[in-house]
Order: sequence, then structure tokens, then C-alpha cells
Amino acid sequence: MLQREVFGRPIGQNQGIQFPIARAYTQMRAAEALVSQAIELFDAGEPCGPEANMAKMAASEASWFAGDTCIQTHGGYGFAEEYDIERKFRETRLYQVAPISTNLILSHIATHELGMPKSF
Ligand SMILES: Cc1cc2nc3c(=O)[nH]c(=O)nc-3n(C[C@H](O)[C@H](O)[C@H](O)COP(=O)(O)OP(=O)(O)OC[C@H]3O[C@@H](n4cnc5c(N)ncnc54)[C@H](O)[C@@H]3O)c2cc1C
Repeated sequence: MLQREVFGRPIGQNQGIQFPIARAYTQMRAAEALVSQAIELFDAGEPCGPEANMAKMAASEASWFAGDTCIQTHGGYGFAEEYDIERKFRETRLYQVAPISTNLILSHIATHELGMPKSF
């Protein structure tokens, strides 16, 4: 799709297309780093609740942003069922609800990592 040419140049040459993709990539790499940190703690038998929660939240938000960027990059084609982009866009929204919702992750981090009082 980034080879697609509009007005005589590939759309991927435009910063308006490049920047969201670079941001999505950066968010994905940051989430990967958090996931690795949580895995290392888990494998070492160390407590990893906050790290696992932060990793899951960062990954779900990176995934959602990447899906949103993918739709925008593909324009109208993003809504064509045969490209599977709208399906992935819908599916990636799931990760902010299940297997644990973002609100409950934030609650865990606020109470277990930051020592704030429990709200419920
Ligand atoms: C496709 C799919 C597959 C699933 N597969 C499984 C499975 O295999 N096994 C399994 O056990 N479960 C499964 N689930 C269930 C999943 O774990 C729950 O949907 C998820 O944990 C959210 O719980 P809930 O649906 O009861 O929503 P609720 O807990 O009712 O939450 C609804 C909304 O209220 C918010 N909320 C709830 N409590 C608080 C609070 N204290 N503070 C602030 N906000 C709050 C949530 O963030 C959310 O926005 C699946 C769900 C889906 C959608």
C-alpha cells in the first residue's frame, strides 16, 4: 500500500502517512520492551503483577493505535472486507476489554505500584 501513488508520488513519501506509522512502530517497540521485562521477572519467579499489567495495557494501546493508523493509511480500502483491515481494527479493540480491562489495569497500577487507596 505504501507503493500507492497519488499526485505522482508514493503516499509513503508524505509525512502525514509516515509519522503515524513511525509512532505506531515506536509504541509497539515500547510495549515489546515491557512484555520482555514482565516475562523475565515471571521466569525468574519474581513478583511481576505491575509489570505484566503495564505490558498488557501498553500492548493493547499500541495495537489499537496501529489498527487506527492502518485504516487511515489505507483510506477507503481500509473498509473493504476483502482487505481484512476493518476486521483487524474491530478485533484489536477487544484487547482494551479482555482478558482484563484497561480500567482494572490502571486500578492495579495505582494501588499496587503507586500505593494509592483502592477505589472500590
Ligand atoms: C471475545 C472474548 C473472549 C473472552 N474469553 C474469555 C475466556 O476464555 N475466559 C474467561 O474467563 N473470560 C473470557 N472473556 C471475558 C473477559 O475476561 C471479560 O469480558 C473481561 O475481563 C471484562 O469483564 P466484563 O466483561 O465482566 O466487564 P465488566 O467488568 O462489567 O466491565 C465493564 C466496564 O466497566 C469497567 N469497570 C469494571 N469494574 C471497574 C472498576 N472497579 N473500576 C473502573 N471501571 C470498572 C471496565 O473497565 C469496563 O469498561 C472473554 C471476553 C471476550 C469479549
